[in-house]
Amino acid sequence: MDGTPARLSIVVPCYNEEAVLEETVRELTEVMNRLIHDGKVSPQSIILFVDDGSVDKTWAIIEQKTLDNPYVQGLKLSRNFGHQSALIAGLETTGEFSDCVISIDADLQDDVAAIDEFIDKYHEGCDIVYGVRDKRDTDTFFKKNTALAFYGLMRKMGVNLVPNHADYRLMSRRALHELMKYQEENIFLRGIVPLLGFKSAKVYYNRKERFAGESKYPLKKMLGFAIDGITSFSVVPIKLVTSLGFVFVLIGGFIGMYALAVWLLNHTISGWTSLILSIWVIGGMQLIAIGVIGEYIGKIFKETKNRPRYTIEWDTITEDKKVKGQV
Ligand code: UDP
Ligand code: MG
Repeated sequence: MDGTPARLSIVVPCYNEEAVLEETVRELTEVMNRLIHDGKVSPQSIILFVDDGSVDKTWAIIEQKTLDNPYVQGLKLSRNFGHQSALIAGLETTGEFSDCVISIDADLQDDVAAIDEFIDKYHEGCDIVYGVRDKRDTDTFFKKNTALAFYGLMRKMGVNLVPNHADYRLMSRRALHELMKYQEENIFLRGIVPLLGFKSAKVYYNRKERFAGESKYPLKKMLGFAIDGITSFSVVPIKLVTSLGFVFVLIGGFIGMYALAVWLLNHTISGWTSLILSIWVIGGMQLIAIGVIGEYIGKIFKETKNRPRYTIEWDTITEDKKVKGQV
């Protein structure tokens, strides 16, 4: 961090991105050329594309690019492991031989122009630089507001997220080294990175429309992502369910007393409405409670198995077929 050119790795997770990949390579190569020319990063820097089990021509394009582009390297995962795992695979692979790593999505929604500023901040001594979306004009009303609600909810549950920051960030080698100590399977990077500490900075940029192709995060996946984020960081939902249980027992007590009084006064109780209502309400609450607990038990179940987070099938950096054990 003393102004000497840093070895930079740009990690790009890709899942069925054939429609944008050529353009992504072009833009990132331009950035790389400029940074090297300005003496900010070393000529040994790389752009590592991680193919997360794509079923289109993504890998073929990456492989081709490794042949005719000086910076491009490829990492092929053996199947689709999901965005976070693909990112981890890339970060872990580049960690050993880079001074700093930038992660960016393949779809060019994150403005590559911000990379210059990332590198400047790195040279100023920051270990982590967060790319923060300035405006979200291009996101749909729905996406903007669900994201806002999500950040609010997470904050209330005591999880420290950088608002409007996704996975566009720079990390120094030592920050990355610390990150790799977090071995949980349900990894939620934007929750963990702020936990690392270190000197950090934010760089603001405008989020653009997807250059081409479709979002790989439909509503169902987004919801899953939010639930994962919450349950892997916070036990507030479990506590909430417990308090709710107490409230319901209390209400039950009052209803019991009321019923007793009515019985003593010899009034006939029509009863059915209140009975059926309580059955449904309490039944519903119990199901929710069981669901919440199940969510956590599922997490424990997954973590105890200690499975690898990803499997690399082919890696152009070492050109090993690791899956087949051929070294
Ligand atoms: N991605 C991935 N594996 C997946 C889903 C997505 O590697 O299973 C990649 C995808 O190619 C993109 C990034 O993760 O580079 C973010 O995905 P996307 O742009 O679809 O999400 P959005 O920006 O709509 O939230
Ligand atoms: Mg996107």
